[in-house]
Amino acid sequence: MPLSFFADFARTADAVGMTTKRLEKLAVLASYLSPLDDSDLIIACRFLAGRPFPASDERTLNVGFSVASTVLIELSGIDPAEYGPLVVRLGDLGDVATDILPNRGEPDEPITLRSALNAFEAIASARGTGQKALLLRNFILRASPLEGKYIVKLVTGDMRMGLKESLVEEALARMAGVRVEEVQWVNMLLGDIGETALMARHGRLPEARMRLFHPLKFMLATPVEKPSEIVTEARNRDETRLYIEDKYDGVRAQLHKEGDRADIYSRTLDPVTHRFPEVAQALASLPHDLIFDGEIVAYSQTDGRCLQFTALQKRLGRKTVSDDLMAEVPVACMVFDLLYLDGVTLLERPLSHRKELLASLDLSYPLVKAPSEPVPVEGLKAEGEGDEGEEPHLLDAMFDAARERGNEGLMVKTPGSLYSPGKRGKAWLKVKRALATLDVVVTAVEWGHGKRRSMLSDYTFAVLGPGGQLLNVGKAYSGLTDAEIIEMTEWFKAHTIRDFGRARLVEPAVVIEVAFDKIQSSARHKSGYALRFPRIVRLRPDKRPQDANTLDDVRAIAEG
Ligand code: AMP
Repeated sequence: MPLSFFADFARTADAVGMTTKRLEKLAVLASYLSPLDDSDLIIACRFLAGRPFPASDERTLNVGFSVASTVLIELSGIDPAEYGPLVVRLGDLGDVATDILPNRGEPDEPITLRSALNAFEAIASARGTGQKALLLRNFILRASPLEGKYIVKLVTGDMRMGLKESLVEEALARMAGVRVEEVQWVNMLLGDIGETALMARHGRLPEARMRLFHPLKFMLATPVEKPSEIVTEARNRDETRLYIEDKYDGVRAQLHKEGDRADIYSRTLDPVTHRFPEVAQALASLPHDLIFDGEIVAYSQTDGRCLQFTALQKRLGRKTVSDDLMAEVPVACMVFDLLYLDGVTLLERPLSHRKELLASLDLSYPLVKAPSEPVPVEGLKAEGEGDEGEEPHLLDAMFDAARERGNEGLMVKTPGSLYSPGKRGKAWLKVKRALATLDVVVTAVEWGHGKRRSMLSDYTFAVLGPGGQLLNVGKAYSGLTDAEIIEMTEWFKAHTIRDFGRARLVEPAVVIEVAFDKIQSSARHKSGYALRFPRIVRLRPDKRPQDANTLDDVRAIAEG
């Protein structure tokens, strides 16, 4: 069996990143992948997609910015005081690695794809950061600066390699002579680009079946400012009915059940079954195999009401959930979609069909079917229609009723729509609070004052610019609880890029939701905008920086 070297993968990934032309990228990928044998093809495709293991694999390397930095500083001998500015200048830990790692010449034993995978597996199963750092150090010691770059990118999960999974899908489709949609579909079902590659190579794509306990990406909604905009949208698309349901203020959950096994996955596709044992138990006792999509909320069974997110926060922070905590913060899963039922994949069935099947199931608390009625579009008024002083628009009234029930707003869904994993389309629309909030990324923190002088409690935050760059839009004194601030202080200390004494530049990884009174133009911020009276509403551990709001959103609110 020919050996495939990690260096060839690194050179390929680099060459793909070097050109902006899609066709050239695809040609580079095809000429690298075609000669690989089956087992190396699987590994190479996963690496190219930016992760050592399949997307559906639950293992994580848990090597963060600070562990990788410690290793790089030690192996390169760089002055730690110069390291921070270099990270800021290059903006990418992989590039920092190539820049500072020494070239040790030809290694005795070159790294192969297989031995790289073994090293990643060892790091994933090592306990404690010390052990992980040691394994990473020994691994990078065997690497050239270019290999070091991709080891660092793969261990820290930094996907910015000029190469997205979609590009690998396209290369595989071309190599197999099939439509790219076929490859995408199978990759989505299997949650593994490596196995998808193998099936494509051997003409076996049509055999792929959805697998339980491999979480699918969630379908997402597009925000609209006012309920009445929805009517305009629906008329533009000739919809006659719309499903309207409450937007619950909890955490998104995907529930899988097969035989006696039941598992729950978070929006980041991590298993969270242990957090909600009572939901998992109810799920396990259902007489069907299925996948649900829903929102887990804190819930009062006596009133049949969902409680505010802050109530749920208590449960989210704990690793183990005691009986006391379950009694103190009861939860429910508001189930709003059915993606699989007894051997049948329902993603490509219209929502109306999925809703009918969901309605036919017998669920009991803490599994609750989210009320959802198809409302005729005719009879709903678009913005500006109707006379002053008349009945309020039905949608506005429904929005207010949802708010009165303690929920966040409304979700509006098109009956004919298919379930599109990972897509934010117009088939689902969300209407949030009348006063907008923004999800932003913390970029810098400062020590507080008075009681909070030993806590990093003041946050500067940013939205995403057109090229994905972070643009600051404000600074807020924390509205978080002391316990949260203390925990975040530790995190920020461990993820400081540069320490200026009073303030620290931190790794942009924490997403928070901020409320504000208004958005003003500002010459002080590169974004051109500043939030007026921003307040931190809550941490959004369920969101990644790439899920934050964009400069376009800010502009739309400022102008709207
Ligand atoms: P946002 O977090 O503001 O982007 O809003 C989208 C989120 O709303 C989804 O990811 C779900 O977690 C949540 N959500 C609450 N209620 C519903 C619902 N009825 N249908 C779909 N998503 C919902």
